[in-house]
Amino acid sequence: MRVNAYLAGQLEPAEGNALLSLNPSQPDDVVIEGATGTPDQATRALAAAANATWASRSGPERAEVLYRWAGKIGERTEEMAQAIAREVGKPIGEARGEVGRCIAILRYYAGECVREVGNVVPALTAGSLQYSLRQPVGPCVLITPWNFPMAIPLWKAAPALAYGNTVVLKPSELSPYCAQLLAETAHAAEVPAGVFNVLQGTGAGVGAALLEGGLAKAVSFTGSQKVGMMLAEAAARANIKFQGEMGGKNVAIVAHDADLDQAAALIAGGAFRFAGQKCTATSRVVADRRVIAELTIKLREQIAKLPLAPVTDAACAIGPLITASSRERVVGKMGGLAPVLPELPGYFLPPTMLEDLDPESVLAQEELFAPVLAVMAADNLDQSIEIANRTPFGLSAALFTKNIGQALTYISRIEAGMVRVNGDTTGVDPHAPFGGMKGSSTHSREQGRAAIEFYTDIKTVQINP
Ligand code: NAD
Repeated sequence: MRVNAYLAGQLEPAEGNALLSLNPSQPDDVVIEGATGTPDQATRALAAAANATWASRSGPERAEVLYRWAGKIGERTEEMAQAIAREVGKPIGEARGEVGRCIAILRYYAGECVREVGNVVPALTAGSLQYSLRQPVGPCVLITPWNFPMAIPLWKAAPALAYGNTVVLKPSELSPYCAQLLAETAHAAEVPAGVFNVLQGTGAGVGAALLEGGLAKAVSFTGSQKVGMMLAEAAARANIKFQGEMGGKNVAIVAHDADLDQAAALIAGGAFRFAGQKCTATSRVVADRRVIAELTIKLREQIAKLPLAPVTDAACAIGPLITASSRERVVGKMGGLAPVLPELPGYFLPPTMLEDLDPESVLAQEELFAPVLAVMAADNLDQSIEIANRTPFGLSAALFTKNIGQALTYISRIEAGMVRVNGDTTGVDPHAPFGGMKGSSTHSREQGRAAIEFYTDIKTVQINP
């Protein structure tokens, strides 16, 4: 299997440096190989996106294309789920869920293609018609991570296309096969040439080249905070729209009146499934001192129900870390608290709970992106919220309680873009606004109707008699 670029409706061999994708469960399994795109291919991808006649098509025509794409993914669901499991180590059940999400996203935005894109604004001048019109921004560069290798590219591409923009996707260099399957299904669905382009490669290679030359009109990024902030600066210098969804250190607060069985089951799932490699994974628990001992016992019982298993096994919940260097980084940060590594070929790390951590410690502050849960105690809800808010991140949060007054206090004071009560921190419905506060985001929202803000410009029109 060879990695290709998908430019102007054609899969063509990439011409840059070698690119190799390995199965993190079994690193001697080469998933796909080939080469990265080149700066010249980046320029051609942007030119194809700039020249495609897409914005001038009617909404119903665009809707038809997105529905067709959803259908083509539907025909290859199992193959695409297996590809996600193999290439990024996602447990097969969750990988199937990701493909289902791709279909739901495309269908949702197919509907968006025929919804209103403006408002009538009463004019000062009698008899005038004044309205605001939302227009496409132009070619959008999408730079995406490996952990949702199909859903994140599509939750950016689908709204971009629905509102009349064209796209150049630069997927993670760790998930080129998944991106290639997206290109193949777009091709099979007859997405018009140049509307959706894929340029494979590393960020420093082709990613940076996509921001040069003035053709890109917007950049939507998901990934680490470090890269996101660097791209935000580059986009600001070019004065183009930028959206960044970045890291998290997501918290679950457990109040003294919580249903501890419910809390333990949902926290363990949120923290350890897919080896804690979701941006919304739970990585901290702040529990009321009155119940923390009982909660930790129940969390241990839940962890025992989550064995390390091959990702293609239906019972698998955890899976490996994405690369050897990710595992080394996490083990290094954990020092003496790191678990014993299993005798498995892949980059597995057993789920680990760290008790009595100082809220200011590195392990309680930095995003590890691993199955590691920091558990801390607080005297009451006020102190729990204060500890919860004491990180630079603000992506998602959960509170377990039966008291509606406590829930309302937490909802208003917690610094997170996505907030749950008696639910885990991970996931969000594919049609609901998604994004973080503080250092987790550049403060726009993806998914649902909220995506129209990023993918359109407002034009104010006045027509006089
Ligand atoms: P990453 O920042 O290393 O890479 C993300 C993308 O940026 C990749 O496509 C990469 O090639 C590209 N990139 C890297 N350097 C670049 C450069 N100089 N110029 C242009 N592009 C460049 O992140 P990752 O390891 O792939 O993903 C994990 C991170 O993503 C975690 O921090 C996680 O929290 C975050 N994430 C956030 C969300 C969210 O919605 N908030 C969702 C998923 C993942």
